[in-house]
Amino acid sequence: MALNAAWAESWMRASAADMAENRQRLIDLDRDIGDADHGENMDRGFSAVVQKLDADGTPATPGDVFKLAAMTLMSKVGGAAGPLYGTAFLRASTAAGGSAELDAGAVVAVLAAARDGIVARGKAEPGDKTMVDAWTPAVEAAQTASDAHAAPAEVLAAAANAAAAGLAGTEPLIARKGRASYLGERSAGHLDPGAASTALILQAAARTAEE
Ligand code: ADP
Ligand code: MG
Ligand code: MG
Repeated sequence: MALNAAWAESWMRASAADMAENRQRLIDLDRDIGDADHGENMDRGFSAVVQKLDADGTPATPGDVFKLAAMTLMSKVGGAAGPLYGTAFLRASTAAGGSAELDAGAVVAVLAAARDGIVARGKAEPGDKTMVDAWTPAVEAAQTASDAHAAPAEVLAAAANAAAAGLAGTEPLIARKGRASYLGERSAGHLDPGAASTALILQAAARTAEE
């Protein structure tokens, strides 16, 4: 489908469904190297986004959808992930501007802005075993696909695949940011929960764009 406000709304609703479905998995990942609340945080946050969409109706533009998500996630998620995803969607909203529909270049700009917002907020670098390790390859793959004249949905598919690979790549890493960093070398051998939620969110973006 065209990457318009209806798509952005479907993306948020699909993300909410995926967070609900993967709640326990995200909790279990966070139990290994954190405090076992990531699934609960993400499920609560995205169900609040759905409630807000139900109450307000479809916003006018993709940027308005991202802004609604940003505000809701910031106020409902808490922990490390709330401000990080909140900042990501707020920057994504600014990057999308007032456009009614995102083309391939705009998709890259939105994803890059989201990643940059997370980095500005959390100061993590690639390799620190955080959600940045899913976002960064996603942005790079999106840029490569867009440069090769891929359609917007294909740009999102490339980003989602790269995020999944980025998630897998967090397993051997030693955490240097967030709660998992308290474990030092014992954080190695586990997937990062925030990279897992990022992979789910980007997969939902790609899946809804294909429909
Ligand atoms: P908390 O750690 O406060 O319980 P969550 O469990 O909801 O918060 O989120 C943990 C996830 O947040 C981590 O798996 C990691 O991906 C991400 N994270 C934590 N700190 C940072 C940071 N400084 N930069 C980027 N991501 C981070
Ligand atoms: Mg946690
Ligand atoms: Mg917590």
